Parts: sequence; structure tokens; C-alpha cells
Amino acid sequence: MSTKHVSFFASVEKNFDKAAAHTGLPKGLLEQIKLCNAVYQMRFPVKVGREYHVIEAYRVQHSHHRLPTKGGIRFSLGVNQDEVMALAALMTYKCAIVDVPFGGAKGGVKINPKNYTTPQLQKITRRYTTELIRKNFIGPGIDVPAPDYGTGGREMAWILDTYLTFHHGEIDAVGCVTGKPVSQNGIQGRTEATGRGVYYGLRELVSFKDDMKAIGLEEGMEGKTMVIQGLGNVGYHTAKISQHEGGAKIIGVAEYEGSISKPSGIDIDALMKHRKETGSILNFPGAENLPTREAALELECDILVPAALENQITVENAPRIKAKIIGEAANGPITADAEEILLKKGIVIVPDMYLNAGGVTVSYFEWLKNLSHMRFGRMEKRFNHNTYENIIATVERLTGKRIGKKERSVITKGGDEIDLVNSGLEETMITAYRQIRDTAKRNKKITDLRTAAFVCALNKISSDYLALGIFP
Ligand code: GLU
Repeated sequence: MSTKHVSFFASVEKNFDKAAAHTGLPKGLLEQIKLCNAVYQMRFPVKVGREYHVIEAYRVQHSHHRLPTKGGIRFSLGVNQDEVMALAALMTYKCAIVDVPFGGAKGGVKINPKNYTTPQLQKITRRYTTELIRKNFIGPGIDVPAPDYGTGGREMAWILDTYLTFHHGEIDAVGCVTGKPVSQNGIQGRTEATGRGVYYGLRELVSFKDDMKAIGLEEGMEGKTMVIQGLGNVGYHTAKISQHEGGAKIIGVAEYEGSISKPSGIDIDALMKHRKETGSILNFPGAENLPTREAALELECDILVPAALENQITVENAPRIKAKIIGEAANGPITADAEEILLKKGIVIVPDMYLNAGGVTVSYFEWLKNLSHMRFGRMEKRFNHNTYENIIATVERLTGKRIGKKERSVITKGGDEIDLVNSGLEETMITAYRQIRDTAKRNKKITDLRTAAFVCALNKISSDYLALGIFP
């Protein structure tokens, strides 16, 4: 999916300015929030075969109003300073919206990971981490990276190992990075967290009957038609969970190699299997191949979920979008100019800085787990189980009736780590959506969810600055 030449950071700034006008906050404070606090641009050589490759990379810390700063590391040829700055800024607003107590940051390494072997990628990741260590740009209380486009648990494990080499004996060292494999101080549920969060967010949006009626839809997720762009970690899990837990119907998918549609619904796991076997989503049994890879974005559907990269919906294709709702699972998939066109068409846009916050929310849980040196559920699981068993025994004694074995095991289950993580994520997404919706309802001049989300974020960040005594 190509990224067109639109300044991503300028697009974020434009949306910021639109929202800032509704806050009444002092100009200097808004300026401080808006700008990037620290930009670290680096170049380092890596030996690849007989050659040396000079690698271009970045880490941007957008806001230090809370520490550590937090955000993923992207491996992609599309990486540039403008992009990393925009993504870091979005992290600041994202964390504020979901009450995750971090400032925003982002990293980028300008490589196509497919062009390197695993040992070469390891070398690049370790060298990048060393550069961050040298400049004090990483640490559990400083700046905590995570996965993003082109990276995953494997890279996070390399980052952790490199950090540990330099910080032997630091008690909280494993909290220097999140999204680690579960076996290496990670947390259950982090891999699917962003997609699961997207599902919870969309489910909450469609649960408001009047809001749905206003766009000609019924309430509830069951039977909603969905188009997904990108079957990476976020797109795949969003599709899978929406299909399995929400009863949504995936009628179109767009990927790098092309796009397909199937009005009766695409089984996402069957499609993944087909792609693995044939190398492409095209020619999926029962589905129609569409003429271009962007064509699926223009299908008629209830919910369009761009889950790939930024700048996918621009002024060029926005007039042809027919979805009723666009859920931004990716960061920045709609340019600020395209958004104006979509809003005029009455399309509801659920903004990235809220909708894809599930990843950083569960990263926060992972970081807390690392700092507490204990998995969630260890203390209370058995206690809760025993309490429920006692309650059931009492009810059975008083009523003279027995509860079935299967029912009993459901009722008496104490929460495992995965149950607690998912419940914390669900609570976070529901609460944040209601705050955004209430903000929009309270201020009649705010007519879109992105502006409402920005206003929520700006109010929270500004009160942090005020608490710091910087802007009395
Ligand atoms: N890269 C993800 C994002 O854009 C996750 C960041 C994190 O977990 O820190 O939100």
C-alpha cells in the first residue's frame, strides 16, 4: 500500500489546531503540547555480507509531560522524520485518551525487513538499541519501545537482551520494552491487543441506538458488513475477533497484492490459510478479485477498517468511499483534507488515537507486570475461586438443589492473566469512548469524534502540565 506524499505531521497538526480552538487553553501551553520535545536522528553502519549498509533511523519523544515516553518501533522503507514525529505525537494523545500515564514517542528504522536475514535483522536491532542506550533514549522510566509495523515480539526480545547487557543488576530493567514474548517477561494478550481494542471500540460505538439510527444503521455488531485493509497483526485480529465474537461479516479485504470482495462473508482464517498456501489473497474461493489493491476501500459496507499504513484515504479516493463508519485501526490512514470530504458525506470516523489504543493499553499492563515482578491473577485467582465455591455450597445447602458441573466451573472461575488483561482492555476502551462521546454531546460545535477525542486528550495533558507547575 503506497504512502502518498502528504506531510503526516502537518495533517496531525491540522487536526490538533481544529480541536485546540474548542479548549480555551493558553496559546503557549498548546504550542508546548503540539511540538516534538526531542528528535534523535541517527545513522549507523551494519555489515551485510561483504558490504556495509548505512542505516537511517529515528527515535522521537513527542511529550515529556509524563514519563516514561512510550511508543512502537517501525521497520519500513517509508520511515522518515516527518512520519516518526507524527506517530510520536499520536502516541501522546492516544495515551492521554485511554488514561495510560505515559508521554508519546515513536521509533523508526528505514529498512525493508524482507531484504535481510534473521541474523542481519538481529544485528540492526541490537545496534539501534545500543544507539538509544548511548543517548539515554531507552529505559523503564525514560522511554519504552514496543512493536509497530514490521516488528514484533522477536525484535522486542533482542532489544531487551541488549538493554540487559548494559544494565546488569537494574531491578526493573525488563520494563525497558513491551510487546515481549510471554516467555520473556511479556504478557498474555499483547499480540492481539490492538485488534481486540479496535473491536471493543467499534462495538461500543454501534451500541448507541440513536447514533446508529442517525446514519441509517441498527444498533449492535451482529451482521454488520466490514471491509478490512491490511491483514497484518492489527487487521487480522480485528477481523477475526469482530467475526467470531461480534458476528460481523467481512465482505472485503485489501492487501498489498490486490483486493477481493465476497458479499456472503469471508472466513478470515480460511483466507489467511489461502494466502499462506498461494502467496496471495487473490483467487480466494467464492470471492471476486477487484481491479486494484485499493478498490476494496470503495466497497459499500457498514464499517471500513483501514489497518495498514498512513495516508491511504486522500482527497483523491475520499469522494468514492461508501462506508457508513470508518474505524482507524492504523495510525493516520485518512489525511486531514480527505477527512473534510468524508465528514461532509456524513461518514462517522472513529479516530486512530482512540481506536488503536488497545496496544499501548496492554503494553501499560505489561510494564506494570514487569515493575511488580509478578503475573496478574497470582494473588487473587484461587481466593476468588474458593469464595465462589463457598457461595455456591451455601446456595445449594439453602435450596437443596445442585448446580451442574459445567455451570459450576464457569461461575467459580478465578481470573487468569488473560482474563484480567482482556477485562482491563475492555473497560479502558468503553470508558474512553464514553468520554469522547460525552465531550461531543456537551459541545454542540464539535461535530466529529476526532475533534472530541483531541479535546479530551488536550484537557488531560494540560492539567498534567499545570500540575507540574510549568504553566501556573
Ligand atoms: N505501536 C503501537 C501503537 O502505535 C503500540 C505502542 C506501545 O505499545 O507502546 O500504538
